[in-house]
Amino acid sequence: MPQRCCRFCQREFAPARFHPEQTVCSDKPCQQQRRNQSRKQKLLQDPEYRAVCRDSARKWRANHPGYWKRYRAAKPESVARNRAQQRKRDLRRRLAALANNNVAWDLKASVAGVWLLGPAGATLANNNLATAQVFILQNTMSQQPLPEASCKQHPSGVPALPA
Ligand SMILES: [Zn+2]
Repeated sequence: MPQRCCRFCQREFAPARFHPEQTVCSDKPCQQQRRNQSRKQKLLQDPEYRAVCRDSARKWRANHPGYWKRYRAAKPESVARNRAQQRKRDLRRRLAALANNNVAWDLKASVAGVWLLGPAGATLANNNLATAQVFILQNTMSQQPLPEASCKQHPSGVPALPA
């Protein structure tokens, strides 16, 4: 069998005899990555699969009341990590919405990514999540409110976004 390059670890491997189309080596981390990617892809493309997954999680939560409350109480570091990741996702979504609404213009192609934002940009700047980006804030623009953060919980001391 000819050797092939794994699309995740970039190492050479021999495809399995019964799977000549194999593009990922059989190392556990690469296989996990392949499964995760495939699942994400299916969730995006298949509404029925999405509904089944959602219902399954719903049923599980109904059969295990209080599990996530206890989990969060036992693992505050996990809660903090989840919140930070959610803030990043929210920020990414809001920036995409700003770009789609033509409120933000990519002024100049650079590694830093320079954005011109309206008044709502103040919230983004306060979050300090996009450290690699440079924001130029302009207060004179009128703008529609941004969508609320998807996370219902807000850590104490951090105000929720304006509706
Ligand atoms: Zn690999």
